[in-house]
Amino acid sequence: MSDTLERHEFGAEVGRLLDLVVHALYSDREIFLRELVANAADAMDRRRFEALTQAVSAPSPDATITISPDKAARTLTVADAGIGMTKAELAQNLGTIARSGTRAFSQSLGDGKAEDKPSLIGQFGVGFYSAFMVADRVTVTSRRAGADEAWTWASDGQGSYTLEAATRDEPGTDIVLHLKEDADEYLESYRLDHVVRKWADHITVPVAIVSEGK
Ligand code: ADP
Ligand code: MG
Repeated sequence: MSDTLERHEFGAEVGRLLDLVVHALYSDREIFLRELVANAADAMDRRRFEALTQAVSAPSPDATITISPDKAARTLTVADAGIGMTKAELAQNLGTIARSGTRAFSQSLGDGKAEDKPSLIGQFGVGFYSAFMVADRVTVTSRRAGADEAWTWASDGQGSYTLEAATRDEPGTDIVLHLKEDADEYLESYRLDHVVRKWADHITVPVAIVSEGK
């Protein structure tokens, strides 16, 4: 499939935000999991909603958000059966800063003093890019509900991302974090469980932590 691999540069604002998130928020980096679980829950809600009015299948009633650590591969995967993203949506949602909230966050972080930063996280939520606090490479494989094709977005958070045709049996999204060397703690189920309980307790979709080989 390498003949379908496309490389795109991030917008300038994305580069700046990535840099700020990765370096300024280091001590709060466990919140990456809150952000990814929140996005997964939003996507499931959106699919349920679209299924009411459009030619989109609903997620199965027992669908969960699945968090899977893989110690051998040193990856952490967050998977959902949500609305998914088309190729264009992957590029738009994960390659640009289209949302005013994130732009305001980026500005506040850039202007603010170091001691203000933790409260800024609470105010804005840092979103998908917080994955790069713990991962040196992130791949997102997604299939939009109502579409047959799937795409993989991949980036090392260093200025560009790639898009490649992929396959996925069902609609939804897999976010695969290739963990940094100092982020081993996020391969431990008890650690993941603690973070989910602390930050994602209010999420209405069930969250399952599923370890490899268990
Ligand atoms: P926010 O959630 O505040 O919009 P994020 O940075 O967390 O900002 O996510 C950016 C966008 O990427 C989301 O608005 C959504 O459109 C898309 N997105 C992220 N994760 C998923 C997912 N798991 N499924 C579908 N879309 C997603
Ligand atoms: Mg979000």
